[in-house]
Amino acid sequence: MSLESRYYYEEGIILFKKKIGEGDLLLTIYGKEKGKFFAIAKGALKIKNRLRGKVSIFSVGRGHFVKRREVDLLISWESYEKFLEILEDVDKFILISDYIRRADKFIPLEVKDLVIYSYFYDFLKSWRLIDRYLGDVFLIKLLQRLGYMGKLELKCKKCVKDLSKNDYMYFNLRDNVVYCEECKDIGSVKVDLREVMEFNEILDKTFDEIVREKYINSLDNLNLIGRMIERIEQEV
Ligand SMILES: [Zn+2]
Repeated sequence: MSLESRYYYEEGIILFKKKIGEGDLLLTIYGKEKGKFFAIAKGALKIKNRLRGKVSIFSVGRGHFVKRREVDLLISWESYEKFLEILEDVDKFILISDYIRRADKFIPLEVKDLVIYSYFYDFLKSWRLIDRYLGDVFLIKLLQRLGYMGKLELKCKKCVKDLSKNDYMYFNLRDNVVYCEECKDIGSVKVDLREVMEFNEILDKTFDEIVREKYINSLDNLNLIGRMIERIEQEV
């Protein structure tokens, strides 16, 4: 490997940091070009280190890295935005970290996806508004992007009856389909037409749009969405 190609710059968001060894940090970064990747910030916790205090969690910025056979090294980091207010608000920090940790489970290593990058960025940018509902919306958008979730067709999977005029239907979490009263199987749960339509609307909008409009805010909907996310999380 030539000397030149060992070094590179990457813009990204620091999603996690973990102390390793003697004062080093293992960072999980979502990069614009690289997607999710790991990097070590050597000596970042030591007093006289140029990285000290710079690599804070949720920091959005540009790093200079050196390639290594295993985990790349971060040489320097310049923050554009630090979101330090999130770190100071304990409840928000816990809520936001929880959703980022849940999202992380689904994200493959080193697959570039600017849409996912923007979801993380929009999620952090909207931190003041984030509650359980918007956290769930964030996960749904991410799962949709990664191919785990799609819109629900308002037709009974078995008899093909149109269910768009029915007040309720039966939703099968395992297969992500709906049934009519007559065709429902064991394990399907009764859901309101409204819940299903709201779910479909989330898939039609961008995360940012939903945040801006605070589009829907019903607790009923949280039920269905919460269950769907849990179901998928069990499998990964
Ligand atoms: Zn049916």
